[in-house]
Amino acid sequence: MRAFCYSTLKGEPRVGIEMDGKKYNFTYIWQIYKELKSSPQTPDYYFLQIMIEMENFSASVFNDVLGEIKSFRSLDDLVITEKFRYEVPISRPGKIICLGRNYRAHAEEWKSQVPEVPMFFSKLPSALLPHEGHIRIPDGIGRVDHEVELAVIIGKRGVRVSESSAMEHVAGYTIVNDVTARAMQGVAIKNGQPWTLSKSMDTFCPMGPYLIPADTVPDPHNLPLELSVNGVTKQKANTRDMVFKIPQLVAYISKYITLEVGDIICTGTPEGTLPIEPGDVITARVGDFGELRNTVIRG
Ligand code: MG
Repeated sequence: MRAFCYSTLKGEPRVGIEMDGKKYNFTYIWQIYKELKSSPQTPDYYFLQIMIEMENFSASVFNDVLGEIKSFRSLDDLVITEKFRYEVPISRPGKIICLGRNYRAHAEEWKSQVPEVPMFFSKLPSALLPHEGHIRIPDGIGRVDHEVELAVIIGKRGVRVSESSAMEHVAGYTIVNDVTARAMQGVAIKNGQPWTLSKSMDTFCPMGPYLIPADTVPDPHNLPLELSVNGVTKQKANTRDMVFKIPQLVAYISKYITLEVGDIICTGTPEGTLPIEPGDVITARVGDFGELRNTVIRG
């Protein structure tokens, strides 16, 4: 079961759900369910972020709702037949926190040490780009790299969360490509400057297309990660090789920074980060979460 956000050609936002290879209009399904339950005060769901805020984003909720509807009518006419555009599954995160050097082989390929405590930086939310959107490389910035990563979406506010309760704060997972202006980052590192610009240019955070409910992912630390450029595999690893695991990351970050619903934690990239060029088609995969595909253009 995979959830997603999409827009109709008129620009109307919707929530979709994909099951058994079919995509359903969940915004409409939820409206039918609300009528059935006579609960008009419950909000409509046009965005997954609202479902998460209402603590209704889980496979068990999706299954309950779909089960009730199926008990009295077919779902066939609720399949999405119109043309649509994927949107990022979380469009307005409060923050995007990214881990640096969280895979040993990636740290080594850049002749860096694995840090003793998690090393993180942020990407600005304005960098988000949906599936099938174009990664725009501004002229004159030199080398730009791809970085496939597992992204964790926070579902419950957290301050000083313990490692043992950290997973209760995770709503779901998605795929991120932490696009990086590598040449500019190299200059910043040399000069002791922050990475914000090299990590946060517009379109440098492709994400999605699907948000996978946490209760359908038994072990997020055993997921294959893969990224290909024009069909040729460049990165291939497994999330089991993360140096700091998700409970450690949630506990460490929330010791200092409040985690809010909808915040995104990008858990770091494995080895094999390489340059991308205008015209390239970048495809990122994590587990069976689907495929995040973007074309690179000159910006
Ligand atoms: Mg990264």
